[in-house]
Amino acid sequence: MDIMKMGKNPNYLGSWDLEDVPNGEITLTIAGIRDEAVTGAEGRKENCTVCYFAEPQYKPMILNITNKKRIIKLYKTRDSDKLRGRRVTIITEPVRAFGGVYDALRIKPVLPPAAEEFVKCENCGEPILPTGNMTSKQAAAYCKKKIGKALCLKCAKVVAEEIKAKQEAALMADAEPVETTEKEKPDEAEQ
Ligand SMILES: [Zn+2]
Repeated sequence: MDIMKMGKNPNYLGSWDLEDVPNGEITLTIAGIRDEAVTGAEGRKENCTVCYFAEPQYKPMILNITNKKRIIKLYKTRDSDKLRGRRVTIITEPVRAFGGVYDALRIKPVLPPAAEEFVKCENCGEPILPTGNMTSKQAAAYCKKKIGKALCLKCAKVVAEEIKAKQEAALMADAEPVETTEKEKPDEAEQ
């Protein structure tokens, strides 16, 4: 094992993740930013701001103050909701600390090249983010085919639940009257 990669938190993006990428930078889409407890090297838990990306092959990135400020400068907002769907380029920069110089992950202080136009959710207007190996357009088309409307993940989940509830209600209405002593439906118990 590469000792330079040891002792790092494998659950989050690190400078070592950028070693093999072309130009040493990656451009990713912000899927969400939230605070969570991160377990450090000594098992100590620390509350950190973590940025999740729409591209599933990339781990989330812990945002320090420097990187938060860079994102705010790029997009002129500090609102995590408004940052969803925005793209950032991540680079490494040499940082002087603890008497040495090491590579730190940094948000590039330059807007990424023009992003793919994201399709907007027909319900809430939020961008439909790329998922898995689907682009925004493909994800929108897939959703439209499935449930009749191009929706963001959040809205699609709500609609899918509604459809399921309606189908269950219809099934219940069609079904023979059930004895009141029956406690649970068998298909629910199986899940
Ligand atoms: Zn939506």
